[in-house]
Amino acid sequence: MITIENLHKKFGNLEVLKGINLQIKDGGIFTILGPNGSGKTTLIKTILGMVIPNSGNIEVQGENIKNSWGYRNHVSYLPQIANFPKNIKVSELIKMIKTLKNKPCKEEHLIKTFKLEPFLHKNLGDLSGGTKQKVNAVLTFMVDNPVIVMDEPTSGLDPASVLELKKIILNERAKGKTIIISSHILSFVEEIADEIVFLLDGNIYFKGSVSELKTDAGKSNFEEAIASIL
Ligand code: ATP
Repeated sequence: MITIENLHKKFGNLEVLKGINLQIKDGGIFTILGPNGSGKTTLIKTILGMVIPNSGNIEVQGENIKNSWGYRNHVSYLPQIANFPKNIKVSELIKMIKTLKNKPCKEEHLIKTFKLEPFLHKNLGDLSGGTKQKVNAVLTFMVDNPVIVMDEPTSGLDPASVLELKKIILNERAKGKTIIISSHILSFVEEIADEIVFLLDGNIYFKGSVSELKTDAGKSNFEEAIASIL
């Protein structure tokens, strides 16, 4: 369980998170929605300890993350923008991450699933945005961690790859993993989310299931329900 209490984050005068209270239970797919700039990435990075909040508490399995940074070693993270060197080959990057993680990795099947074999010996900087995202997906899922955090994982992916990604995510959920995803792709969210949280103006506007949101909004269509909030 991840428990977030009264989380505040400001960048200069910009108050991005205005007292977020949230519980993310173990197991299942938890999605973070909200307009551009609403603080989804900031919230994710705060949970990961990559952004230090101005105030508030985050506990993981009952322990304050300030005292248990080690938990980051048990989280797989797919960032919105990955800053890997451009001149590293895909195969070298995978090898490097395997060495850094120092855990058993299962990358072969993922490379096949995302049809990345022809790109293994290419430099990362020479790949298309979608192909880079497939490499990021391999790096995320090749390590068997109990928590998976993904910031806009479908970004740039073609429909076939989104389908593969969805299958992998659902398979990870079936194994009992805790999966946290930020996304703007409502059809994707609607199909996979156990719980959604909608951020608006630095606060949580809604927390619940897709069907609860539709009921609250009085709409049978998820996109219309979301549009009615904005
Ligand atoms: P998007 O949907 O566009 O990815 P988001 O909901 O993930 O947006 P964030 O990336 O969390 O939003 O950004 C929230 C706000 O905080 C934005 O106005 C952004 O410009 C600002 N911000 C984020 N990181 C920083 C930073 N390091 N320094 C200054 N401002 C920042």
